Amino acid sequence: MARVALVTGGTRGIGASIAKALKAAGHTVVVCDVVDDQIASFQQETGIAGYNIDVSDYASVEAGVQKIEGEVGPVDILVNNAGITRDGFMHKMDPVKQWGAVIGVNLNSVFNTCRVAAPGMRDRGWGRIISISSMNGQRGQFGQSNYAAAKAGMIGFTKSIAQELANKGVTANVVAPGFILTDMTAAMPQEILDAEVKKIPVGRIGQPEDIAQAVVYLASDQAGFLNGATLSVNGGQYMI
Ligand code: NAP
Repeated sequence: MARVALVTGGTRGIGASIAKALKAAGHTVVVCDVVDDQIASFQQETGIAGYNIDVSDYASVEAGVQKIEGEVGPVDILVNNAGITRDGFMHKMDPVKQWGAVIGVNLNSVFNTCRVAAPGMRDRGWGRIISISSMNGQRGQFGQSNYAAAKAGMIGFTKSIAQELANKGVTANVVAPGFILTDMTAAMPQEILDAEVKKIPVGRIGQPEDIAQAVVYLASDQAGFLNGATLSVNGGQYMI
């Protein structure tokens, strides 16, 4: 059945791929981001409506989702994809610019969007919440204590709300990507990227579409018995 889907951080990278794949699966998709030009060009390119919402800010999420629900319809599929990295050694990490920013955009955001969208899903008796974590949230990563903490926090949060919401037809799951080719990974030093690709059993870096297809399945009616799970999509690089 076609639903309204909101993909946060959906104008580029993995989020853009998820938005396009959900649209191809027949859903009405909207994205949000924080750069107006990027939102406008994505909308022009794909026909997918975009909204300026800062997911780290509760008031922005509340106003933005209200606008989407008024203009497009109730959000039944929520994909928490927006994320940033601000890497550095923990013992040198700036409490605000690195720790605070990463926890805000990657973890507080998930509370913000779920807190705003889940009550409507419960009332309507159907919903899908899919949050994009990371392999580095499962295993930890040198130089990424902030990012790994946020991404691991997302898993604990999801396991909790998966228990709270399921009796109203709302499931919550996590997708944990490994190395995926986007602007985020292109910013990594080439030697680190090459070394990581050598550790991937399938022998290649992941593509945004690898994540998008997992999300399309989790968003479907057929995935109703999948709840509180963390789906690792990492080519076998890290298995738990
Ligand atoms: P990306 O290319 O950097 O895209 C991130 C998106 O999030 C951008 O559209 C960005 O908007 C948006 N965003 C940032 N701050 C925001 C805010 N405050 N409010 C709303 N949107 C905001 O990243 P990606 O590689 O596609 O990653 C997508 C997700 O997958 C992230 O959560 C990331 O942690 C996760 N992930 C990625 C990989 C990988 O290998 N790429 C691996 C594991 C997990 P702007 O364009 O305005 O900056």
